[in-house]
Amino acid sequence: MAEAKTIDGKAFAAGLRARVGAGVAALVAQGAAKPGLATVLVGADPASEVYVRSKGKTAAETGMASFDHRLPAETTEVELLELIGRLNVDPAVSGILVQLPLPRHIDTAHVLQAVDPAKDVDGFHPINVGRLGSIAAGAPLDFPVPCTPLGCSMLLADALGSLAGRNAVVVGRSTLVGRPVAQLLLRADCTVTIGHSRTRDLPALCRAADILVVAIGRPAFVKGDWIRPGAAVIDVGINRVPAAGGKTKLVGDVAFAEALGVAGHITPVPGGVGPMTIAMLMKNTLRAAQIQQGE
Ligand code: NAP
Repeated sequence: MAEAKTIDGKAFAAGLRARVGAGVAALVAQGAAKPGLATVLVGADPASEVYVRSKGKTAAETGMASFDHRLPAETTEVELLELIGRLNVDPAVSGILVQLPLPRHIDTAHVLQAVDPAKDVDGFHPINVGRLGSIAAGAPLDFPVPCTPLGCSMLLADALGSLAGRNAVVVGRSTLVGRPVAQLLLRADCTVTIGHSRTRDLPALCRAADILVVAIGRPAFVKGDWIRPGAAVIDVGINRVPAAGGKTKLVGDVAFAEALGVAGHITPVPGGVGPMTIAMLMKNTLRAAQIQQGE
């Protein structure tokens, strides 16, 4: 069998960022204010710092304003809620991103609920979660949808065209990734099954999939012989593992080299789903600005 086609998320995301940049320029040319993305980071988790920096940088590259709020780890929930309250009413802020995870003493649900749903560019507010959970097949996504799942569904639609009638298996049921991916695939008329850590015979379930999305956080967990020949495989996992020479490297949740000989399409790690997440955040922020400015 021929080697799987690698889905180039990096190139797709670059094209998307360019389209967002053009959208921002068009909005500004009409006399509207620049869209603005506010990022909020509590504490100094190194991985979160990298993500937040990269989000701010990409916002600036697409012509948006970015507002970087760094709060000390000991910030109270009340102080964080006050900041979110100010950002909610700030007309320069179109989208608010609270970087997760938050320190343990802060209730994440309280914080996500405090973000104005119209500025919730991560799509984590319960109102937006509910909108996605109750969306009809094919209905427009006219509210913010979580970025990584949206990226997965866009890559699949680009690689395969119509997804209608395909058997999709999503491994992982987190509210951040697995569940919203499943809902987007249902909206696209797939027949969707969700697998998780209590699923019986996960390999057999995966073998039934025309579309296999894996989001579990276990390096190279899904083996080549779990994959149906010709299936489209989206690997969401990002795992840092030891590499030669005392270094480390990033790998996905799928054994990539094995899968390459079986799948029809596959996303690499890095360079697959990862770059889509920030591109989708920019898309969500532009859309939020357009709606807030009455488009
Ligand atoms: P999570 O909240 O830890 O959820 C993991 C899910 O995987 C859970 O539903 C869990 O099942 C399931 N699982 C764990 N071990 C399993 C096993 N042995 N067999 C079957 N299912 C198993 O993780 P997440 O936030 O969804 O993230 C998943 C992965 O995606 C991570 O590697 C993360 O770094 C990556 N990620 C990437 C991006 C990106 O931009 N590319 C964005 C977000 C996340 P239970 O529910 O039964 O415990």
